[in-house]
Amino acid sequence: MEFNYDPQNIFAKILRGEIPNNTVYENDHALAFHDIAPQAPTHILVIPKGPYMSLDHFARDASADEQVCFMQAVAKVCEIAGVDDGFRAIANSREHGIQEVPHFHLHIVAGRVLGRMLE
Ligand code: 5GP
Repeated sequence: MEFNYDPQNIFAKILRGEIPNNTVYENDHALAFHDIAPQAPTHILVIPKGPYMSLDHFARDASADEQVCFMQAVAKVCEIAGVDDGFRAIANSREHGIQEVPHFHLHIVAGRVLGRMLE
């Protein structure tokens, strides 16, 4: 599979500081910020700083350092958001996954009882 990353996507613009965001946590290789249209009381997006389109692209091509930093950011977000009652992590991927922004992001959704599946 060939991954053609579009550097004009909105999360790339956020990473370049061209668009503001409400940052929750940041480390060397990952950024977490509040979703602009939250679907639950907690709705945070965790993204890698590198140019990866989707979860499988990131899992295949990101370095060990990038992957560790990403997972550490997920842990920090869960701690900061206080998701002791549970949460859902979602990575919509490409067309059939209804991925709107073509920069890999993990939704962390929490703060209420969620349906069995998000649509
Ligand atoms: P996807 O459908 O690609 O999995 O989710 C993209 C998410 O990005 C959506 O939940 C949408 O609300 C969020 N989003 C889109 N544009 C922006 C933006 O400019 N800022 C922030 N913080 N979130 C955005």
